[in-house]
Amino acid sequence: MPAALSSHLPHLLIIDDDSDASLLLHTILKSEGRISVAAGGLPGLAMVQEQLPDLILLDADMPDMSGFEVCSLLKADQRLARIPIIFVTGCSDIASETKALQLGAVDFISKPFSPLIVKARVRNHLLLKQHMDSLQQLAAIDGLTGVANRRAFDEGLEMEWRRAARRQEPLALLLMDVDFFKNYNDFYGHPAGDTCLRQIAKVLSTIAQRPGDLAARYGGEEFAVLAPNTSLEAIQHLAEELCDRVRGLHIPHERSAIARWVTVSVGVCSLLIPGDAINGNRTTEGELLPAGAITPAAFVQAADRGLYQAKKAGRNQVMVATLPEENSTMTL
Ligand code: GH3
Ligand code: MG
Ligand code: MG
Repeated sequence: MPAALSSHLPHLLIIDDDSDASLLLHTILKSEGRISVAAGGLPGLAMVQEQLPDLILLDADMPDMSGFEVCSLLKADQRLARIPIIFVTGCSDIASETKALQLGAVDFISKPFSPLIVKARVRNHLLLKQHMDSLQQLAAIDGLTGVANRRAFDEGLEMEWRRAARRQEPLALLLMDVDFFKNYNDFYGHPAGDTCLRQIAKVLSTIAQRPGDLAARYGGEEFAVLAPNTSLEAIQHLAEELCDRVRGLHIPHERSAIARWVTVSVGVCSLLIPGDAINGNRTTEGELLPAGAITPAAFVQAADRGLYQAKKAGRNQVMVATLPEENSTMTL
Protein backbone atom coordinates (compact mmCIF):
# COMPACT_ATOMS: atom_id res chain seq x y z
CA MET A 1 0.00 0.00 0.00
CA PRO A 2 1.37 3.49 -0.78
CA ALA A 3 2.56 5.43 2.26
CA ALA A 4 -0.02 8.17 1.66
CA LEU A 5 -2.86 5.73 2.26
CA SER A 6 -1.44 3.96 5.25
CA SER A 7 -2.97 6.12 8.01
CA HIS A 8 -6.48 4.85 7.38
CA LEU A 9 -7.22 1.52 5.73
CA PRO A 10 -9.59 2.37 2.88
CA HIS A 11 -12.88 0.53 2.64
CA LEU A 12 -13.97 -0.64 -0.82
CA LEU A 13 -17.43 -1.94 -1.64
CA ILE A 14 -18.01 -4.14 -4.68
CA ILE A 15 -21.62 -4.24 -5.89
CA ASP A 16 -22.09 -7.00 -8.46
CA ASP A 17 -24.64 -9.81 -8.83
CA ASP A 18 -22.03 -12.01 -10.53
CA SER A 19 -20.03 -13.73 -7.78
CA ASP A 20 -17.19 -14.69 -10.16
CA ALA A 21 -16.73 -11.04 -11.14
CA SER A 22 -16.77 -9.96 -7.47
CA LEU A 23 -14.25 -12.61 -6.57
CA LEU A 24 -11.92 -11.51 -9.34
CA LEU A 25 -12.09 -7.85 -8.24
CA HIS A 26 -11.63 -8.91 -4.65
CA THR A 27 -8.46 -10.80 -5.56
CA ILE A 28 -7.08 -7.89 -7.58
CA LEU A 29 -7.85 -5.24 -4.96
CA LYS A 30 -7.34 -6.99 -1.65
CA SER A 31 -4.00 -5.26 -1.10
CA GLU A 32 -5.69 -1.82 -1.49
CA GLY A 33 -7.92 -1.96 1.57
CA ARG A 34 -10.75 -3.69 3.37
CA ILE A 35 -13.29 -5.07 0.93
CA SER A 36 -17.02 -5.76 1.26
CA VAL A 37 -19.19 -7.34 -1.39
CA ALA A 38 -22.92 -6.83 -2.10
CA ALA A 39 -24.62 -9.26 -4.48
CA GLY A 40 -27.06 -6.75 -6.02
CA GLY A 41 -28.19 -3.14 -6.23
CA LEU A 42 -30.58 -3.22 -3.27
CA PRO A 43 -28.24 -4.91 -0.78
CA GLY A 44 -25.52 -2.64 -2.16
CA LEU A 45 -27.49 0.50 -1.33
CA ALA A 46 -28.14 -0.78 2.18
CA MET A 47 -24.46 -1.51 2.70
CA VAL A 48 -23.39 1.92 1.47
CA GLN A 49 -25.76 3.56 3.95
CA GLU A 50 -24.56 1.42 6.79
CA GLN A 51 -20.83 1.29 6.10
CA LEU A 52 -20.03 4.56 4.25
CA PRO A 53 -17.24 3.00 2.15
CA ASP A 54 -14.43 5.09 0.61
CA LEU A 55 -14.99 3.77 -2.90
CA ILE A 56 -17.69 1.79 -4.73
CA LEU A 57 -17.08 -0.57 -7.66
CA LEU A 58 -20.44 -0.88 -9.33
CA ASP A 59 -21.75 -3.28 -11.95
CA ALA A 60 -24.20 -1.72 -14.43
CA ASP A 61 -26.37 -4.69 -15.26
CA MET A 62 -28.02 -6.26 -12.21
CA PRO A 63 -31.46 -7.91 -12.04
CA ASP A 64 -32.81 -6.24 -8.89
CA MET A 65 -31.69 -2.68 -9.66
CA SER A 66 -29.38 -1.39 -12.37
CA GLY A 67 -26.06 0.20 -11.48
CA PHE A 68 -27.27 3.43 -13.09
CA GLU A 69 -30.22 3.53 -10.72
CA VAL A 70 -27.98 2.78 -7.73
CA CYS A 71 -25.64 5.57 -8.83
CA SER A 72 -28.50 8.09 -9.20
CA LEU A 73 -29.87 7.26 -5.76
CA LEU A 74 -26.47 7.59 -4.12
CA LYS A 75 -25.75 10.91 -5.81
CA ALA A 76 -29.12 12.26 -4.67
CA ASP A 77 -28.28 11.53 -1.03
CA GLN A 78 -26.20 14.36 0.46
CA ARG A 79 -24.54 12.05 2.98
CA LEU A 80 -23.46 9.54 0.31
CA ALA A 81 -22.95 11.67 -2.78
CA ARG A 82 -19.24 12.20 -2.19
CA ILE A 83 -18.35 8.51 -2.23
CA PRO A 84 -16.60 7.90 -5.56
CA ILE A 85 -18.20 5.31 -7.83
CA ILE A 86 -16.34 3.37 -10.50
CA PHE A 87 -18.48 1.42 -12.92
CA VAL A 88 -16.97 -1.99 -13.72
CA THR A 89 -19.15 -3.52 -16.36
CA GLY A 90 -19.56 -5.76 -19.38
CA CYS A 91 -21.12 -2.83 -21.25
CA SER A 92 -18.53 -1.15 -23.42
CA ASP A 93 -20.72 1.12 -25.55
CA ILE A 94 -20.30 4.87 -25.58
CA ALA A 95 -23.89 5.48 -24.46
CA SER A 96 -23.43 3.48 -21.22
CA GLU A 97 -20.12 5.11 -20.43
CA THR A 98 -21.51 8.59 -21.08
CA LYS A 99 -24.55 7.86 -18.93
CA ALA A 100 -22.42 6.59 -16.02
CA LEU A 101 -20.14 9.62 -16.09
CA GLN A 102 -23.05 12.03 -16.45
CA LEU A 103 -24.69 10.44 -13.42
CA GLY A 104 -21.59 11.34 -11.42
CA ALA A 105 -19.42 8.21 -11.58
CA VAL A 106 -15.71 9.05 -11.43
CA ASP A 107 -14.62 6.31 -13.80
CA PHE A 108 -15.86 3.58 -16.14
CA ILE A 109 -14.01 0.31 -16.66
CA SER A 110 -15.21 -2.18 -19.30
CA LYS A 111 -14.70 -5.91 -19.06
CA PRO A 112 -12.48 -7.63 -19.92
CA PHE A 113 -10.08 -5.39 -18.02
CA SER A 114 -6.42 -5.41 -17.16
CA PRO A 115 -5.97 -6.15 -13.44
CA LEU A 116 -3.04 -3.73 -13.24
CA ILE A 117 -5.06 -0.88 -14.75
CA VAL A 118 -7.99 -1.54 -12.41
CA LYS A 119 -5.64 -1.51 -9.45
CA ALA A 120 -3.94 1.71 -10.56
CA ARG A 121 -7.24 3.49 -11.17
CA VAL A 122 -8.66 2.39 -7.84
CA ARG A 123 -5.52 3.57 -6.08
CA ASN A 124 -5.72 6.99 -7.74
CA HIS A 125 -9.36 7.44 -6.82
CA LEU A 126 -8.69 6.36 -3.24
CA LEU A 127 -5.93 8.96 -2.97
CA LEU A 128 -8.22 11.67 -4.31
CA LYS A 129 -10.91 10.61 -1.85
CA GLN A 130 -8.42 10.82 0.99
CA HIS A 131 -7.39 14.34 -0.04
CA MET A 132 -11.04 15.37 -0.26
CA ASP A 133 -11.70 13.97 3.20
CA SER A 134 -8.72 15.86 4.64
CA LEU A 135 -9.87 19.10 3.03
CA GLN A 136 -13.37 18.61 4.35
CA GLN A 137 -12.02 17.98 7.84
CA LEU A 138 -9.83 21.07 7.63
CA ALA A 139 -12.78 23.15 6.52
CA ALA A 140 -14.66 22.09 9.66
CA ILE A 141 -11.94 23.04 12.14
CA ASP A 142 -11.33 26.37 13.85
CA GLY A 143 -7.79 27.43 13.00
CA LEU A 144 -6.97 28.98 16.37
CA THR A 145 -8.26 26.35 18.77
CA GLY A 146 -8.52 23.12 16.79
CA VAL A 147 -12.14 22.45 17.83
CA ALA A 148 -15.02 22.42 15.32
CA ASN A 149 -15.81 25.79 13.76
CA ARG A 150 -19.15 27.56 13.51
CA ARG A 151 -19.97 26.04 10.15
CA ALA A 152 -19.41 22.51 11.46
CA PHE A 153 -21.48 23.36 14.53
CA ASP A 154 -24.39 24.57 12.41
CA GLU A 155 -24.25 21.43 10.27
CA GLY A 156 -23.95 19.22 13.36
CA LEU A 157 -26.93 20.92 14.96
CA GLU A 158 -29.13 20.36 11.89
CA MET A 159 -28.13 16.70 11.78
CA GLU A 160 -28.47 16.00 15.49
CA TRP A 161 -31.75 17.89 15.62
CA ARG A 162 -33.27 15.53 13.05
CA ARG A 163 -31.74 12.47 14.66
CA ALA A 164 -32.95 13.44 18.14
CA ALA A 165 -36.49 14.02 16.85
CA ARG A 166 -36.47 10.69 15.02
CA ARG A 167 -35.16 8.74 17.99
CA GLN A 168 -37.07 10.73 20.57
CA GLU A 169 -33.94 11.35 22.57
CA PRO A 170 -33.15 14.61 24.39
CA LEU A 171 -30.67 16.94 22.73
CA ALA A 172 -28.61 19.19 24.99
CA LEU A 173 -26.68 22.36 24.32
CA LEU A 174 -24.12 24.29 26.33
CA LEU A 175 -22.99 27.81 25.42
CA MET A 176 -19.97 29.25 27.18
CA ASP A 177 -18.45 32.72 27.15
CA VAL A 178 -15.21 33.92 28.74
CA ASP A 179 -15.72 36.51 31.47
CA PHE A 180 -14.19 39.96 31.05
CA PHE A 181 -12.22 38.83 28.07
CA LYS A 182 -11.99 42.25 26.53
CA ASN A 183 -10.20 43.39 29.69
CA TYR A 184 -7.96 40.33 29.43
CA ASN A 185 -6.92 41.23 25.89
CA ASP A 186 -6.45 44.88 26.81
CA PHE A 187 -4.22 44.01 29.75
CA TYR A 188 -2.25 40.96 28.54
CA GLY A 189 -2.37 41.54 24.78
CA HIS A 190 -4.13 39.75 21.95
CA PRO A 191 -1.57 36.91 21.56
CA ALA A 192 -1.99 36.03 25.25
CA GLY A 193 -5.76 36.13 24.66
CA ASP A 194 -5.31 33.64 21.84
CA THR A 195 -3.31 31.31 24.09
CA CYS A 196 -6.01 31.57 26.72
CA LEU A 197 -8.70 30.62 24.17
CA ARG A 198 -6.62 27.59 23.13
CA GLN A 199 -6.34 26.42 26.72
CA ILE A 200 -10.07 26.79 27.27
CA ALA A 201 -10.84 24.93 24.04
CA LYS A 202 -8.64 22.08 25.24
CA VAL A 203 -10.64 21.79 28.45
CA LEU A 204 -13.84 21.89 26.41
CA SER A 205 -12.65 19.00 24.22
CA THR A 206 -11.66 16.89 27.19
CA ILE A 207 -15.02 17.24 28.90
CA ALA A 208 -17.09 16.68 25.70
CA GLN A 209 -15.95 13.08 25.45
CA ARG A 210 -19.08 11.04 24.76
CA PRO A 211 -19.46 9.70 21.22
CA GLY A 212 -21.51 12.25 19.31
CA ASP A 213 -20.56 15.20 21.57
CA LEU A 214 -19.55 18.18 19.45
CA ALA A 215 -17.28 20.83 20.98
CA ALA A 216 -17.13 23.95 18.82
CA ARG A 217 -16.01 27.57 18.75
CA TYR A 218 -19.27 29.39 18.29
CA GLY A 219 -17.81 32.87 17.85
CA GLY A 220 -14.92 35.02 19.16
CA GLU A 221 -14.62 33.92 22.81
CA GLU A 222 -17.82 31.88 22.84
CA PHE A 223 -17.82 28.09 22.70
CA ALA A 224 -20.52 25.43 22.48
CA VAL A 225 -21.03 21.76 23.22
CA LEU A 226 -23.82 19.94 21.44
CA ALA A 227 -24.59 16.72 23.31
CA PRO A 228 -26.97 14.15 21.81
CA ASN A 229 -29.09 11.98 24.09
CA THR A 230 -28.22 14.09 27.11
CA SER A 231 -30.56 15.20 29.90
CA LEU A 232 -30.68 18.64 31.44
CA GLU A 233 -29.11 17.23 34.59
CA ALA A 234 -26.23 15.71 32.65
CA ILE A 235 -25.48 18.87 30.63
CA GLN A 236 -25.66 20.93 33.82
CA HIS A 237 -23.13 18.62 35.40
CA LEU A 238 -20.89 18.93 32.35
CA ALA A 239 -21.18 22.72 32.46
CA GLU A 240 -20.28 22.84 36.17
CA GLU A 241 -17.25 20.71 35.44
CA LEU A 242 -16.28 23.04 32.61
CA CYS A 243 -16.51 26.09 34.91
CA ASP A 244 -14.43 24.34 37.58
CA ARG A 245 -11.82 23.10 35.17
CA VAL A 246 -11.34 26.48 33.45
CA ARG A 247 -11.06 28.19 36.82
CA GLY A 248 -8.68 25.41 37.82
CA LEU A 249 -6.32 26.32 34.98
CA HIS A 250 -5.39 29.30 37.18
CA ILE A 251 -4.81 31.62 34.25
CA PRO A 252 -4.16 34.95 36.00
CA HIS A 253 -6.68 37.68 35.19
CA GLU A 254 -5.78 40.95 36.90
CA ARG A 255 -8.63 42.79 35.25
CA SER A 256 -11.46 40.45 36.12
CA ALA A 257 -13.99 42.02 38.48
CA ILE A 258 -14.94 38.67 40.01
CA ALA A 259 -11.89 36.43 40.38
CA ARG A 260 -8.09 36.30 40.27
CA TRP A 261 -8.26 33.76 37.46
CA VAL A 262 -9.93 33.52 34.09
CA THR A 263 -13.51 32.28 34.53
CA VAL A 264 -16.39 31.43 32.22
CA SER A 265 -20.15 31.75 32.27
CA VAL A 266 -22.33 28.99 30.84
CA GLY A 267 -25.91 28.60 29.66
CA VAL A 268 -27.44 25.17 29.14
CA CYS A 269 -30.66 23.65 27.87
CA SER A 270 -31.93 20.20 26.98
CA LEU A 271 -34.95 19.42 24.91
CA LEU A 272 -37.01 16.48 23.78
CA ILE A 273 -37.92 17.49 20.25
CA PRO A 274 -41.49 16.60 19.52
CA GLY A 275 -41.99 13.82 16.99
CA ASP A 276 -45.21 13.36 15.05
CA ALA A 277 -46.62 11.05 17.70
CA ILE A 278 -46.29 13.64 20.42
CA ASN A 279 -49.06 16.10 21.02
CA GLY A 280 -47.51 19.44 21.88
CA ASN A 281 -43.90 20.33 22.49
CA ARG A 282 -42.21 19.65 25.75
CA THR A 283 -38.84 19.91 27.35
CA THR A 284 -37.11 16.99 29.06
CA GLU A 285 -38.77 18.22 32.23
CA GLY A 286 -42.19 17.87 30.70
CA GLU A 287 -43.00 21.55 30.31
CA LEU A 288 -45.30 22.41 27.45
CA LEU A 289 -44.29 24.83 24.74
CA PRO A 290 -46.30 26.38 21.93
CA ALA A 291 -46.73 23.82 19.15
CA GLY A 292 -44.48 24.37 16.18
CA ALA A 293 -42.37 26.91 18.05
CA ILE A 294 -39.18 24.94 18.35
CA THR A 295 -36.44 25.31 15.77
CA PRO A 296 -32.69 24.72 16.02
CA ALA A 297 -32.22 28.51 16.06
CA ALA A 298 -34.65 28.88 18.96
CA PHE A 299 -32.81 26.10 20.77
CA VAL A 300 -29.55 28.05 20.48
CA GLN A 301 -31.35 31.21 21.61
CA ALA A 302 -32.51 29.36 24.71
CA ALA A 303 -28.96 28.37 25.69
CA ASP A 304 -27.89 31.93 24.92
CA ARG A 305 -30.55 33.21 27.27
CA GLY A 306 -29.16 30.94 29.98
CA LEU A 307 -25.71 32.37 29.27
CA TYR A 308 -27.03 35.92 29.53
CA GLN A 309 -28.64 35.08 32.86
CA ALA A 310 -25.37 33.57 34.12
CA LYS A 311 -23.63 36.83 33.21
CA LYS A 312 -26.31 38.91 34.87
CA ALA A 313 -26.20 36.83 38.03
CA GLY A 314 -22.51 37.62 38.50
CA ARG A 315 -20.61 35.45 35.94
CA ASN A 316 -18.42 32.42 36.76
CA GLN A 317 -21.49 30.17 36.92
CA VAL A 318 -23.95 27.94 35.07
CA MET A 319 -27.57 28.83 34.36
CA VAL A 320 -30.32 26.73 32.86
CA ALA A 321 -32.33 28.48 30.18
CA THR A 322 -35.67 29.61 31.55
CA LEU A 323 -38.70 28.74 29.52
CA PRO A 324 -41.31 31.17 28.30
CA GLU A 325 -44.48 31.79 30.28
CA GLU A 326 -47.33 29.41 29.65
CA ASN A 327 -49.35 30.30 26.56
CA SER A 328 -46.62 32.75 25.56
CA THR A 329 -46.15 33.08 21.83
CA MET A 330 -42.39 33.22 22.26
CA THR A 331 -40.33 30.35 20.93
CA LEU A 332 -38.30 28.20 23.32
P1 GH3 B 1 -18.34 39.48 29.43
O1 GH3 B 1 -17.83 39.06 30.74
O2 GH3 B 1 -19.65 40.21 29.54
O3 GH3 B 1 -18.42 38.38 28.45
O4 GH3 B 1 -17.32 40.58 28.88
P2 GH3 B 1 -16.26 40.41 27.73
O5 GH3 B 1 -15.26 41.49 27.90
O6 GH3 B 1 -15.73 39.03 27.72
O7 GH3 B 1 -17.17 40.56 26.47
P3 GH3 B 1 -16.98 41.34 25.13
O8 GH3 B 1 -17.95 40.69 24.19
O9 GH3 B 1 -17.09 42.82 25.35
O10 GH3 B 1 -15.50 41.04 24.65
C1 GH3 B 1 -15.16 39.89 23.98
C2 GH3 B 1 -13.71 40.02 23.63
O11 GH3 B 1 -13.22 38.82 23.02
C3 GH3 B 1 -13.42 41.13 22.66
C4 GH3 B 1 -12.60 40.49 21.58
O12 GH3 B 1 -11.49 41.25 21.26
C5 GH3 B 1 -12.17 39.18 22.18
N1 GH3 B 1 -11.93 38.15 21.19
C6 GH3 B 1 -12.81 37.62 20.30
N2 GH3 B 1 -12.18 36.72 19.51
C7 GH3 B 1 -10.89 36.70 19.89
C8 GH3 B 1 -9.75 35.97 19.43
O13 GH3 B 1 -9.80 35.17 18.50
N3 GH3 B 1 -8.57 36.19 20.07
C9 GH3 B 1 -8.49 37.08 21.10
N4 GH3 B 1 -7.32 37.23 21.68
N5 GH3 B 1 -9.54 37.78 21.53
C10 GH3 B 1 -10.73 37.60 20.95
MG1 MG C 1 -18.86 37.30 24.08
MG1 MG D 1 -17.01 37.43 27.30
